[in-house]
Amino acid sequence: REFADHYDQRAVEERGWIGDDEIRELGERGLLGLYVPEEYGGAGLSQTGYCRVSEEFAQIDATLSVVMGVHQSIGMKGFEVGERYDTMGLRGNDLRRLYFKDLRIPPENVLGEPGEGFRTAMQILNNGRLSLGTGSVGASKWLLDRVIQHVKERRQFDRPLADFELVQEKIGWMVSFTFGLESMAYLTTGLVDRGIPDYSLESAICKVSGTEFMWYAANRALQLKGGEGYMRDQPYEKLLRDIRIFPIFEGANDVMRAFIALSGMKPLGEELKELADISLSEPIGSLGVLADYVAGRIQREVRPDRVTRAHPELSALAEPVTDQVKRLREVSEAQLRKHRDGIAERQFVQKRLSDAVSDIYAQIAVLSRVTAIFEEQGVGPSGQERYIAETFCPRAARRVRSNLDQVETNDDERMAAIAKLAYKRGEYGYALFDG
Ligand SMILES: Cc1cc2nc3c(=O)[nH]c(=O)nc-3n(C[C@H](O)[C@H](O)[C@H](O)COP(=O)(O)OP(=O)(O)OC[C@H]3O[C@@H](n4cnc5c(N)ncnc54)[C@H](O)[C@@H]3O)c2cc1C
Repeated sequence: REFADHYDQRAVEERGWIGDDEIRELGERGLLGLYVPEEYGGAGLSQTGYCRVSEEFAQIDATLSVVMGVHQSIGMKGFEVGERYDTMGLRGNDLRRLYFKDLRIPPENVLGEPGEGFRTAMQILNNGRLSLGTGSVGASKWLLDRVIQHVKERRQFDRPLADFELVQEKIGWMVSFTFGLESMAYLTTGLVDRGIPDYSLESAICKVSGTEFMWYAANRALQLKGGEGYMRDQPYEKLLRDIRIFPIFEGANDVMRAFIALSGMKPLGEELKELADISLSEPIGSLGVLADYVAGRIQREVRPDRVTRAHPELSALAEPVTDQVKRLREVSEAQLRKHRDGIAERQFVQKRLSDAVSDIYAQIAVLSRVTAIFEEQGVGPSGQERYIAETFCPRAARRVRSNLDQVETNDDERMAAIAKLAYKRGEYGYALFDG
């Protein structure tokens, strides 16, 4: 917090670097070795602790959170550094291409066992994806603080903006979605701290949901700020430029959707004995670098069929989740039977299944959070959280239903055909006016 008081994100952007003094100060404050065990001089934080700090960084500056994230995850000597990239956002981040030329790693620099590097790299990506999820939580809280104050103060048509229904719709959406995302991200970090061996699926879900929500939230916040929000002395345009890369890096979101759907379906395919001839690691192999990791990962247990631990007061929200899990399973099974190996190419299906899985996970996370609050504080005082849960869960359930309905009934072939026609024409090419 003290660091935030004198950190100037505009100055960082103008000079193109966080600043050596600032980095030194972060080091002195013990913020550069968050994951490093205490016996080696680090902070020895848990996954939850680390993600809470990354949420704080995201509230100060997206560039700072990215630089800190990279610092905690990547390190190596002996490469050549290329020209600096001129980027749209994150302009205080010194981004360069690295060249590995005749690179030899001395034995004392090898981390882990030789041959395990890919697995280690994937593990680091999981952590990066999780902190993009919690970073999105931090940035959206920061946005909400500003935009709530603005809509209460700014008057138009003889009223504060806050009184208009379509303003309330935007703020209500931002608050409830932040609540859902926060529940999901910290449920995941809690699972990691309890030692689940594989959280690649959950961290991919947090990355996709967090980064897309963040983009729309920043867009809506700028909208509420009106013309003033477009000015460069306001933080919104910079935030939009900074966060635009989030759905692209650490795994482009559509590639992540394929990963979520296919790795979620893998145990199901293995369970269906009569489909034994489908080798699900083959089609996943078409996703390139993910192949080895997915093929070699520890087998995930199929998720329990019933949501059993929700507080009895929440049963009206928990029971529909059980039905959604059942239906997701049926729809996935039908798609596996229909497409067999070809499922790897069915991205329309993958997207809907992935989005449905994410919305189911979000409901479970919200129910688990509110259950914990009920158990700690009793049902009475937790009215606001309950109210948000009662709004968030049915909305997420409707999205699940809609996505699963559309797996079966859709106009996907038409969309693909229009795209292919456009490829053939090589341009838009439909003339409205003569000549
Ligand atoms: C600021 C910044 C920092 C970066 N930092 C790092 C870093 O530290 N380390 C590192 O290794 N890389 C880094 N990168 C690179 C980054 O990881 C890649 O840009 C990213 O993975 C996307 O790959 P690409 O640019 O080749 O896009 P492409 O692979 O060409 O993808 C472009 C688009 O095509 C679509 N697409 C691609 N594949 C599929 C598919 N299978 N199915 C459906 N749609 C698809 C998606 O819409 C995707 O967004 C960084 C990039 C930037 C801009």
